[in-house]
Parts: sequence; C-alpha cells; structure tokens
Amino acid sequence: MSAQIINGKQISESIREELRLEVEQLKQNGITPGLVVILVGEDPASQVYVRNKAKACEQLGYYSEVVRVPAETSQDELLALIHKYNEQRNIHGILVQLPLPKHIEEKAIIDAISVEKDVDGFHPESVGNLMIGDDALLPCTPSGVIELLKRTGNHPAGKHVVVIGRSNIVGKPVSMLLLRENATVTICHSRTPNLPEMARQADMLVVAVGVAKLVKKEWVKPGAVVIDVGMNRLPDGKLCGDVDYDDVLDAAGWITPVPGGVGPMTITMLMANTLKSAKRARV
Ligand code: NAD
Repeated sequence: MSAQIINGKQISESIREELRLEVEQLKQNGITPGLVVILVGEDPASQVYVRNKAKACEQLGYYSEVVRVPAETSQDELLALIHKYNEQRNIHGILVQLPLPKHIEEKAIIDAISVEKDVDGFHPESVGNLMIGDDALLPCTPSGVIELLKRTGNHPAGKHVVVIGRSNIVGKPVSMLLLRENATVTICHSRTPNLPEMARQADMLVVAVGVAKLVKKEWVKPGAVVIDVGMNRLPDGKLCGDVDYDDVLDAAGWITPVPGGVGPMTITMLMANTLKSAKRARV
C-alpha cells in the first residue's frame, strides 16, 4: 500500500491561519510583531530565503526589515548592527542569514543576538534551555518536524525514532525535541555502522543528511513514518530529499515529499517564534 503523504504546505498554511488570528488580537493591544532579517553579501540561495521570510511577514501583517549589507562588511560592523536591533523595541526577532562570509565568525554573531530575540533558536542559551526542557525559542526546522508529526496524529511518545544526522541546526535539536515528546531516540550519523539496519528499527525515521536519495526502501520498516528534511539540488536543477521517495513510497506508512514537506514549515515556525517573542516582550 502506498504511504499517506504529509502535506507540509497545507499544514503550514493552517498554522499561519492560527498565527494570523493571534496577530490580530495582539495588534488590538497595540503590539505588532517585528522581525529583522540581516543578509551579508549576495549568495543567491540566501537571497531567495530572505525574500520568502519578508513575504511571510507581509502575509501575516508583521513589521519587517530586511537589511542587506555588502560581503566586505566587517565582523565589528555586523555586531554593531545586531546590538542596535537588540535595543530596538519594535523588533522582536533578529535573524542573521547563514552562511556568513569566511572573515566573519558565525559563533560570535549568533552569541551577540539577544536570547529573547533569538528566533532561529541557535544561541547557546536557547540550545541549553531546549536541552533541559525550559521555555525557549525552538529552532525552526526541528520544531516544524514535531508539528508535522503531531498534526498528522503521529505522536512520537513511546515510539522508537531514528534520526539520521547530528548537525546543530537539525539532527541534534530535533533529537532533543523528540526526547521531550517522550520518544525513544537513536541518533545516527556518518560514522554509524549498519545504517540501513539501524534505520529499519524505526517507527519514525527523521533524515537530515544532505545526500540525495540516500534512504532506500530496505531502510524502512513497513508502515514507518518517514520525515525527509533533506534539500538537494540534482544536476537537472530539480529539488530532491535525502530519501528516495519513489522507492520508499510503498514501504512507509507516512512520508513527507520534497518539496512540500518539511520545507514550508521552517519559515512558518520562524513566524511562530517571532509572535511568541512579541507576546513575551509585552508583559
Ligand atoms: P550538515 O551537513 O550540517 O549535517 C549532516 C549530517 O549528516 C552530519 O551530522 C553527518 O554526520 C551526517 N551524514 C553525512 N553523510 C552521512 C551519511 N552518508 N550517512 C549518515 N549520516 C551522514 O547538514 P544539515 O544542516 O543538518 O542539513 C541536512 C539536510 O537538510 C541538507 O540537505 C539541508 O539542505 C537540509 N535542510 C533543510 C532545511 C529545511 O528547511 N527543509 C533546513 C535545514 C537543512
């Protein structure tokens, strides 16, 4: 039997509808959520991401600023910009689009963002809060994965979830979130032996590797939920995931397509974080 498709576009749209209602209420109390996105240089992919973030702000009625600075901007200049927005009261979220040019130390920039405005959830204090289960702004792609699971009735509690990938952006935080949701979590990575065998034990498989079509049907326990975070550009220009979708479709119980699965959730969760921060700033 063919897997049920997890439609990230549709789920993302319904979350945005919920956000829109909350924003309306907040605005009646005189608060408009505000996001600044800072782009250093002219990386084409980053330009698309930044444009989409600004578009989402507009769609939801947020205040937004996009600050484009040249690739030669010094680290000190970028830090000064962040300090300015840390102080600016109508801004509730600061996002510095990654990757940064090589002469700028990414960690110094992330550390400089005020933790209250860390809507990417990459600040060490946000990561620590996630780890110990305190309230935190959660990283967007991982929290998008959790929403996809819950909103399709695939609650992770009690399930064995295998996460492939251990990056700070996806693999590690999604594993922590799944643990918080009471899943039993196994984290696999590039040095894990017998990867297909490990993956095949999963009730739910989350793949964030960056290798096109790595996961085949032999890796998937029949009926398992497969969440594909990967976004890879094929030589013909098409986008594909880390899961061989056509191959796995008949083995999985549920599956996210690429595009249209995890991807649309990332910006939506960024919007949710900005709103959360705006609501907190108010009290
Ligand atoms: P990364 O390169 O930082 O990390 C990849 C991880 O995969 C590493 O932990 C590594 O150990 C593991 N790995 C690499 N090769 C492997 C192999 N052959 N077998 C098993 N594990 C292996 O990547 P990332 O930032 O975590 O991103 C992963 C993928 O997710 C990429 O395709 C990226 O484009 C995509 N991504 C998508 C979104 C989204 O919004 N949909 C957001 C972030 C990342």
